Amino acid sequence: MTVRNFENFKFQPFILEALREINFTKPTEIQERLIPSIQRGENAIGQSQTGTGKTHAYLLPIIDKIDPTRQEVQAVITAPTRELATQIHQEVGKIIKFSEESPITAKLFVGGTDKARAIEKLKTQPHIVVGTPGRIHDLVKEQALQVYTASKIVVDEADLMLEMGFIEDVDQIASRMIEDLQILVFSATIPEKLKPFLKKYMENPRYTHVAPEQATAAKVEHILVPLRHRNKLNLLQSMLEVYNPYLAIVFTNTKKMADEVADGLIAKGMKVGRIHGDLPPRERKKVMKQINSLEFQYVVATDLAARGIDIEGVSHVINYELPNDLDFYIHRVGRTARAGFSGIAATIYEPANEDAIVRLEKMGVTFVNMDLEKDEWVNIGERNKRKARKKQVDEVDKLAQSKVRKPKKVKPGYKKKMNKEMEEIKKRQKRLKRK
Ligand code: AMP
Repeated sequence: MTVRNFENFKFQPFILEALREINFTKPTEIQERLIPSIQRGENAIGQSQTGTGKTHAYLLPIIDKIDPTRQEVQAVITAPTRELATQIHQEVGKIIKFSEESPITAKLFVGGTDKARAIEKLKTQPHIVVGTPGRIHDLVKEQALQVYTASKIVVDEADLMLEMGFIEDVDQIASRMIEDLQILVFSATIPEKLKPFLKKYMENPRYTHVAPEQATAAKVEHILVPLRHRNKLNLLQSMLEVYNPYLAIVFTNTKKMADEVADGLIAKGMKVGRIHGDLPPRERKKVMKQINSLEFQYVVATDLAARGIDIEGVSHVINYELPNDLDFYIHRVGRTARAGFSGIAATIYEPANEDAIVRLEKMGVTFVNMDLEKDEWVNIGERNKRKARKKQVDEVDKLAQSKVRKPKKVKPGYKKKMNKEMEEIKKRQKRLKRK
């Protein structure tokens, strides 16, 4: 058996030094599987969710191959959200700061910031560009950013790129880069609509799938909490209070609902942060800072705003609503139990969610059914009590039918009489069962 360690990849000494500094002792599965092929210059598709260490799977080999003597763009890293791009840029910074001898430079370009300043920043071209596709494409069009020298492009969270309509920008950026481009695509899912893009740029890519079970998700406890006939916000409040989490993210499907829930909890006197797409960039940045400095114990978020953000120490993910697209369940839950820690994903559900839950179970999620009773968690066993009860009723029905014989000669009103008799028997059976 090969010993998994970073020395095996023959990285430059400054990278190993940086890894020691950030406390990465051994590569994660996706890093182990992808780094060698990225080092060989192969195209790759990494199908994995956040939490598996996918960012460093591409960052480390990319940074390792930068030639600091050529002051030109050599790699472009694109991400769908400003937060994710910012975070990737920060991760790059933590590693390149050790390249003091021949410094490697990286710059961040995201929307919502001053474009003139971005152009100013580009008086010298950085080695690595990190950003959102729209802004990068913009700067390329302005001829401020020269990507034609770059030989590597990363498309992180490609499925979300597609969903947010950014693939076109990525395509435009990639088409201006060198012909023999190395392209690295990371995506939690590979939707059909993404395939034309992949085909256009990739011949025989190396495809690596790291299943959530093998990564961190195995350490997540998935809990279902029935709403019953309670007030949902009150239930959420109790759940949060009883969990007393290190940091919980409450997911809603819409911005409107995120506001409703956040306002509702604040009105109940709780200190709650919120992140959703309608917040102005400045506000979002502020909230992210507050979250990272643990000013909040609870954060309400929508999927798009929260995707890809590496908030450290999320101990609980609460699904106030199940997402319409169930892949998002996996993404949401990927927010917790990162890099080896365990976490809890609790979902408030109603009978209408039954199909979705069954589908999630088919996707490999194992749920535990719990409920709060007098502010304590109790395991409530089978979720399908309703179904189980129906089966019981069917059996009682059968029994009753077998006991009531249909008269040979049918007299008028016999049906009514028979039904009445059956009802009597059913009632008796139920009474007996209860005893
Ligand atoms: P990612 O999937 O890239 O979002 O990474 C999830 C988390 O795992 C991040 O907080 C990383 O800093 C951390 N991480 C990535 N690779 C390693 C590693 N080899 N050892 C320990 N932590 C890691």
